[in-house]
Amino acid sequence: MSEVWSKEDEVAILDMIDKWVENDVRPIAKEYDQEDKYPHQLVEQMKSLGLFGATISQDYGGMGLPASIYAKIVIKVASAWMAPGGIFNSHLIQASLIERCGTEEQKARILPRMVEGELRGGIALTEPNAGSDLQAIRTTAVRDGDDYIINGAKTWITNSLHGNSLAVLVKTNTDIEPRHKGTSMFFIETKDADDNYLPGIEVIKMKKLGYRAIDTCEVVFTNFRVPADNLVGGEEGKGFIQAVGGLELGRINVAARGAGIAKGAMELAVRYAQERETFGKPIANHQAIQLKLGEMATKVEAARLLIEQAANKYDSGERCDMEAGMAKYFGSEAGVFCANEAMRIFGGYSYSVEYDIERFYRDAMLMCIGEGTNEMQRIIISKQLVERYKI
Ligand SMILES: Cc1cc2nc3c(=O)[nH]c(=O)nc-3n(C[C@H](O)[C@H](O)[C@H](O)COP(=O)(O)OP(=O)(O)OC[C@H]3O[C@@H](n4cnc5c(N)ncnc54)[C@H](O)[C@@H]3O)c2cc1C
Repeated sequence: MSEVWSKEDEVAILDMIDKWVENDVRPIAKEYDQEDKYPHQLVEQMKSLGLFGATISQDYGGMGLPASIYAKIVIKVASAWMAPGGIFNSHLIQASLIERCGTEEQKARILPRMVEGELRGGIALTEPNAGSDLQAIRTTAVRDGDDYIINGAKTWITNSLHGNSLAVLVKTNTDIEPRHKGTSMFFIETKDADDNYLPGIEVIKMKKLGYRAIDTCEVVFTNFRVPADNLVGGEEGKGFIQAVGGLELGRINVAARGAGIAKGAMELAVRYAQERETFGKPIANHQAIQLKLGEMATKVEAARLLIEQAANKYDSGERCDMEAGMAKYFGSEAGVFCANEAMRIFGGYSYSVEYDIERFYRDAMLMCIGEGTNEMQRIIISKQLVERYKI
């Protein structure tokens, strides 16, 4: 649960993040993105900034930040470079799952190590045949004495190469109806103390359009053994519910990444529009460009406000799936819109890898896909709407 934070605390934290982003993140973004090179130094800096424990409660040594402050941190990072946010975002989604659904023993054993960044990871839900329809997964876990044996393949798993832990959604019963009652979640450590993969796990890095530098991989389990003690919550049949229960925070997080991309793209475009001249004046003075900038700025602000609304509701403990869905949908579409419009404002130079805007353009689309596609978000919003306005 989040602790009480004063306005002064918030300003101090955001100021610290600002300095880090400007001194250490923005300057390396182009090189690391283009070479698809993992930013190990940022991981060490995230450890000292406490980011691996940002939303983990103080009971386990974390900062216990509310979603409202956390979302502002995510916007700041993504407005310079969206990708490195994935290193702590996916990690914290895993942590939130353990904190919400784990047994007391699991929380005490796992969370302090996650806060320190000694354990770093993400969540492994998606499979080659199952993304939006998670209940269709085929990876199985079968009980064998004090262990379970996992077989199957996960795909698009963030932090699986450079991290060392995952929360893995599996089937412990393939026959039961409804299908979600056959799903369970396991916390697994993927590597030994020497950073070698444990037997039965293979990780293959995927090449991506954007969100480069951060490891997204296929993860294949062949008779991978996990102690039964690592069944999250200690009970089979809860995996799907545990996974979707964390989606509100996950959606606020993706909304913030989209809003950060929107803000960053707008800032690049505003600057360029004042520098670039055509027909004897800066292009910022042409009405066609002004219309674009006006619309971009409005979407940036609207996204920020929707995120604030969803985060405040989340922090107050109220159900906020509709608000988080709206923020995710609008924030991510704002990212795509602003990146697209900024590309047009940059003209031919938008196509040059010398300029940062092409990275925003490549990174933006992912936010419409992850944490539930935007098609699914609108379906969730609509279902909630009917529930709230029932006749
Ligand atoms: C870079 C990257 C990183 C990722 N990281 C992770 C990760 O760390 N962990 C993880 O588990 N997953 C991760 N994912 C996977 C991501 O969550 C899925 O790609 C996403 O959930 C969509 O699933 P899918 O790709 O199987 O698309 P599908 O579910 O096959 O959907 C295809 C299309 O059909 C639409 N659709 C599907 N069902 C419906 C419906 N009922 N009504 C209307 N439209 C529908 C979708 O909106 C989409 O347009 C990542 C993906 C990417 C690209």
